[in-house]
Amino acid sequence: MTSHEDLAVRFGTPLYVYDLDEITAARHELFDALPEEFDLYYALKANPHPGLVRALRDGEGRSCRAEISSTGELAAALEAGFDGSECLYTGPGKTLGELREAIGAGVRLFSTDSVTDVRRVGEAAAGHGVVADILLRVNSASATATSSIRMTGTPSQFGFDSETLGDLLPDVLATPGVKVRGMHYFPLSNAKDENALIGEFQHTIAGAAELARRLDIPLDYLDIGGGFTVPYGVPGERGHYPKLRAELEAALDTHFPDWRAGTPRLACESGRFLIGASGTLLASVSNVKVSRGRKFVITDAGINTFGGMSGLGRLLPVAVQPQAGAETESASLVGPLCTPGDVLGREITLPALSPDDLVTVPNVGAYGPTASLLMFLGRPAPTEVIVRGDDVVSASRIEHSRSYLPTAPGASE
Ligand SMILES: *Cc1c(COP(=O)(O)O)cnc(C)c1O
Repeated sequence: MTSHEDLAVRFGTPLYVYDLDEITAARHELFDALPEEFDLYYALKANPHPGLVRALRDGEGRSCRAEISSTGELAAALEAGFDGSECLYTGPGKTLGELREAIGAGVRLFSTDSVTDVRRVGEAAAGHGVVADILLRVNSASATATSSIRMTGTPSQFGFDSETLGDLLPDVLATPGVKVRGMHYFPLSNAKDENALIGEFQHTIAGAAELARRLDIPLDYLDIGGGFTVPYGVPGERGHYPKLRAELEAALDTHFPDWRAGTPRLACESGRFLIGASGTLLASVSNVKVSRGRKFVITDAGINTFGGMSGLGRLLPVAVQPQAGAETESASLVGPLCTPGDVLGREITLPALSPDDLVTVPNVGAYGPTASLLMFLGRPAPTEVIVRGDDVVSASRIEHSRSYLPTAPGASE
């Protein structure tokens, strides 16, 4: 591969480098870990760069489908070569306008979170003279023993509470413009190990079977969610799932004896696992200073470039890839923004760094630029380079710009 140093010189920093071969490897690993009857949705939320999304659809082996949640993600999926019919549209606050746009682009499968949501999908579909397929997203009343922190379902903007779904179902089934095809669960993200993941899936499969039978919910399609893991901004590898496939098959044989014949058809979802390990962030040290005995390494990549979701109290700190044989020291890795919150790692172990040194953060392919505070403090977005082997496939940057709208009353019509 073209060295990171070369790419940093050629394109400047902060720079994301994504390796398509790594995405292909992750995709094959995950398909191999699942029963072959499964559909696999890539959640564009993790990284909507069309050049990366394309690698999950095209090429040898089974193709992912696209899970989208906005018209921006819809546009990215279409640009990556997906057809509307390969998309699942999700989210708790879908508007009529975006639903019309999605249906106009050929999307026919929607995960729905409330009666209002179902009615809106129906209205948008009817407006286009079509019937949309819907999944009922379910917020289970109970969680599995392996994630024992929550023994009962938590209140959430996502999904129908399983306890009250029965009361709402007649309304849902009678809504014009939609046909209920099945259910969607997504109870867990980034499961800590294979056993936790298997436990959650077993719980979901058993719960879905019980609910469908008790309430007589049509069930052609069952999306059991995800939870596949990869490190975030620190060294390490994707999760390994040697037992998953057999455990899923066993649970499905128990609860859905006809699943191998396609009733119901099954699906899983992943964002981070498929894309996380493909990305490396390169930043340049602009200054190293000491304040009251503590060292601060200031780089050109702050929370406007990576880890902006740290405001949500999770995910960071990052780790910097050590150079072989280099000395290490304790310091805070901070960005260039005028806020004390611009910290990628507080008092972490870093190589001894000086101004102009290159800093390398691994496993940043998921939840990178678009999950960061891109516009805060008005710095340019990082450049994003896609490579395959020694070839640079593309280089691009998201641009922010302000559009002025007509201000006179009625002028927008
Ligand atoms: C966020 C999300 C995903 C992707 O989660 P990862 O942890 O990145 O795999 C998948 N499905 C739904 C419904 C989501 O909200």
